[in-house]
Amino acid sequence: MSGAPESSPRSWAEVDLSALRHNFSTARELSGQQVMAVVKAGAYGHGLEATARALASEEIAFFGVANVGEARCLSEAGVDSPVYLLGATLPEERTEAVALRCVPCLNTMEEAHHFDQIARDSGSPLRAHLAVDTGMGRGGFLPADVPAALEAIRALSSVRVTGLGSHLPAADEDSEFTHAQFNAFDTLVESLPSRGELEFIHLANSAGLLGYRSRTTNLVRPGLLLYGVSPFGDEKTIFRTVMTLKSRIAVIREVPAGHGISYGRTFLTTRPTRVGTIGIGYGDGYPRSLSNNSPEVFIRGRRVPLLGRVTMDQVMADLTDHPGCLPGDEVELFGPNIPVSEIAHKAGTIPWEVFTSITPRVQRIYSK
Ligand SMILES: *Cc1c(COP(=O)(O)O)cnc(C)c1O
Repeated sequence: MSGAPESSPRSWAEVDLSALRHNFSTARELSGQQVMAVVKAGAYGHGLEATARALASEEIAFFGVANVGEARCLSEAGVDSPVYLLGATLPEERTEAVALRCVPCLNTMEEAHHFDQIARDSGSPLRAHLAVDTGMGRGGFLPADVPAALEAIRALSSVRVTGLGSHLPAADEDSEFTHAQFNAFDTLVESLPSRGELEFIHLANSAGLLGYRSRTTNLVRPGLLLYGVSPFGDEKTIFRTVMTLKSRIAVIREVPAGHGISYGRTFLTTRPTRVGTIGIGYGDGYPRSLSNNSPEVFIRGRRVPLLGRVTMDQVMADLTDHPGCLPGDEVELFGPNIPVSEIAHKAGTIPWEVFTSITPRVQRIYSK
């Protein structure tokens, strides 16, 4: 221990947990259905444990995670709501999945048989949902095979199918396909003799929840919109911003006209320029692909353009027209004033990826 006082972080993400709870209850009200809070990938970079704890007081049907490792983190954090595994499991993961009392989705008969054997050995039956591939092509039974699969699994002693779910590949891109997909899913569910035994029927992600209606589902699985972002990019919404990515101006310098800014000298100043160097870069997850795609940051109530390429640890802002800006000033990279959708669009990617790219160097700071 050096005994030196700890400095505040160079870049940090403020996470507003009351906005998260607001978004969760808005998802409930809008859909009129139960909600699985999708918290995979560290709750989309917001922090798995803190996010799950913040939502634990809400009426959560499930937490949705991608794999057993994430389920283990929730268990270790003392979260006791049911945890649903959104994707197929590997054989060596299934014993732990059963021990953690996860609800897996079944993708093949092989998976169902193996889970049955593990659950029998463990002495308690396993609840699982049947995954149906209605167009995603990532996992699950094809619709035509669902009735037989349900029959075959019903004959197993220790696996009970308590739900049925499918996933939408294009709800934010192709409404014609998605309407047909909803209809096909509903028609399948309506045709199942064992429909009454299925406690949970689910299809919608965020875009499905916002844009479509089902005749049969009673559970929705939003991720992105819990974090305050609409998959349709229309941030006017009733959802509140949860994460604000921030940094500080480290130094401000004057450089002459014709001076190169950042790697590759892709930008040359056209006038004497007051350059503010900000302590964040792609090493923090601020996308390098924003470089020269007119990214802006928010400082002292105004949008300010960045110059040249995003480097690993620093970016440069043009402060020439903002003489009031000073070293140490806070900078918003995205948040209430710079929508994350705008950053994603300029970076040639999607908000899901921007969120999940924020690295551990960025300290998450939670407000209740
Ligand atoms: C990630 C995921 C979701 C959540 O998707 P969003 O678009 O973030 O709402 C829902 N269902 C499944 C199966 C997923 O993998």
